[in-house]
Amino acid sequence: MFGFGTIFCVLCEHRVPKAQARPLTGRKDVAVCDGCRAKWRRAGGFCGRCRAAVEGDGGLGVLPDRYALGHLSCGAIELAGEGVTVRANGR
Ligand SMILES: [Zn+2]
Ligand SMILES: [Zn+2]
Repeated sequence: MFGFGTIFCVLCEHRVPKAQARPLTGRKDVAVCDGCRAKWRRAGGFCGRCRAAVEGDGGLGVLPDRYALGHLSCGAIELAGEGVTVRANGR
């Protein structure tokens, strides 16, 4: 059986249920799981490239060259679903 209903988390490198992960925009095969996001948030939520804190979830994505969370403005790929939430209540 090959991971039906699950998706690969690029941070912990485990397959996780799709309901517990946010896929990268434009990618159906890779995601960041809720566990990794929560852990990263608790650790301070720093960008993997510029080391500044990423405020809120609006600018949050995954830096594709190092598979760390970071700013979209630092080249990160946005997580699908995040932008929707932010746009709904962010203006
Ligand atoms: Zn994970
Ligand atoms: Zn950054």
